[in-house]
Amino acid sequence: MSGAELTLRVHAFQSMGTVDGPGVRAVIFLQGCPLRCACCHNPDTWDPAGGINTDLDTLLHRIERCRPYFGPAGGVTVSGGEPLMQAKALLPLFRRLREKGIHTALDTSGCRLDDAVRTLLAETNLVLLDYKYTNDTDYRRYVGMPMDDVDHFLAYLQEKGIETWLRHVYIPTLNDNDASLSRLCKIGEAHSCVTRIELLPFRRLCLEKYREMGIPFPLADIREPTAAELDALRERYPKLTI
Ligand code: SF4
Repeated sequence: MSGAELTLRVHAFQSMGTVDGPGVRAVIFLQGCPLRCACCHNPDTWDPAGGINTDLDTLLHRIERCRPYFGPAGGVTVSGGEPLMQAKALLPLFRRLREKGIHTALDTSGCRLDDAVRTLLAETNLVLLDYKYTNDTDYRRYVGMPMDDVDHFLAYLQEKGIETWLRHVYIPTLNDNDASLSRLCKIGEAHSCVTRIELLPFRRLCLEKYREMGIPFPLADIREPTAAELDALRERYPKLTI
């Protein structure tokens, strides 16, 4: 099959991303997500029929144009939506990137672990794993999946020795308590594949997007954390990257 025949459903392409993995990166946001996280900032990525079909050669061409900016640490991150939903179609892209010596990262909820995903993970240098809550009740209520699923995914990354960053959106009133943050740190410590735990402050920037789409933002009444609150967290939890 030629590169032109392999297509991915792409929501957006960012050429100089600096917040989704190490260094400067090309970030490909794929379309389609089976989850409905209460804190989701990208509801426009949910519909698997949205986005644009983009072939492998086009993506590789765009990535090559960004490559001079990657430096030694950068590379390509595939995010979403949920990139695992297109694991099979992503595989040839990751294989080509690895052949070219380009670092590959996958930003995922860890909601799916089948043969296609396992094969893709074998070509992945780094997983940015959303670890949104530290108890099953909140996972089911605010993400829409059992916490067991993300734990199994993390256990698999540990078994295969795939470098992992945990990413946790810090949401006042929902998961801003010490018990939850201490559990998150312990989960990281218990897995040697985890080299970083990132705390991402909850932001309300997506409100307008929800309004435009005519759907309610479930966390519309929740405030953003203050700078002083984040400074205090940095002191109390030096193991977290905030
Ligand atoms: S997994 Fe990501 S894209 Fe899907 S609903 Fe959750 S935050 Fe949104």
